[in-house]
Amino acid sequence: MRPFTARDGRPLTVVHVQGRHPPTRGPVLVVHGAGVRAELFRPPLPRTFVDALIDAGWDVWLLNWRASIDLDPMPWTLDQAAAHDHPAAVEHVLAATGADRLKAVVHCQGSTSFVMAAVAGLLPQVDTVVSNAVSLHPVVPAVSRFKISKVAPVVGRVLPHISPAWGDRPEGFAARCVAGFVRATHRECRNGVCRMVSFTYGSGRPALWSHANLDEPTHDWIRGEFAEVPMTFFAQMDACVRAGHLVATGEVEGLPPSFTDRAPRTDARFALFAGEDNRCFLAES
Ligand SMILES: [Zn+2]
Repeated sequence: MRPFTARDGRPLTVVHVQGRHPPTRGPVLVVHGAGVRAELFRPPLPRTFVDALIDAGWDVWLLNWRASIDLDPMPWTLDQAAAHDHPAAVEHVLAATGADRLKAVVHCQGSTSFVMAAVAGLLPQVDTVVSNAVSLHPVVPAVSRFKISKVAPVVGRVLPHISPAWGDRPEGFAARCVAGFVRATHRECRNGVCRMVSFTYGSGRPALWSHANLDEPTHDWIRGEFAEVPMTFFAQMDACVRAGHLVATGEVEGLPPSFTDRAPRTDARFALFAGEDNRCFLAES
């Protein structure tokens, strides 16, 4: 775990994962989503996505940006991550490796914020972006659209954040009410955190994965991998969903208000992966 600071001084960390042999290829920055952490990519399996990258010779760096549950919780927006976190992370990895370019694998809200930074011209050293689950154009199921536009603002008036960890450990009266509601309406499994994740992030039961694809140790491991997400994020994503593409809040200089009404200021190659069972964000153009 290596500490560094974002461009606004926020302390961040990156995990350099080293295999048995020195890497034979360049650095890959791996970026997690909202309310999780770098370890998201290392479930308790014999061979993870990270192992596959290392086996292929890549030099793997797992970022904890400001949405990481391994950092002190604070309200954040995609703008702050795009303008302050990702450019600093890329510069940190390049300085540490001596490379002049890197590739990135970015997931969920790590993907949206990273793509914002790339399109705005803040990541000129990134030549390839593998974007997972959602990217420049969020497209969500009708139920998710209703929840983010109608339910999230109400929750935001009462709570500064929501946390899937409340499925096991609700903090306070409002959190106990939310957890109780989810227990009553999500009966798909006995894992309280798994059920809270589905309530928080999507419209399925479960929303983000298929139980058939999870062995029991991994399903149980989920309990420790999800925590606080600030309502500031949901407010911004609501605006993005309404617009049909990512939009900035305007609080941070250096980002355009829209990321789609001018040519992208990047020559990186992009690839998007979004599974047909994705019930959080569906696809993008
Ligand atoms: Zn479950």
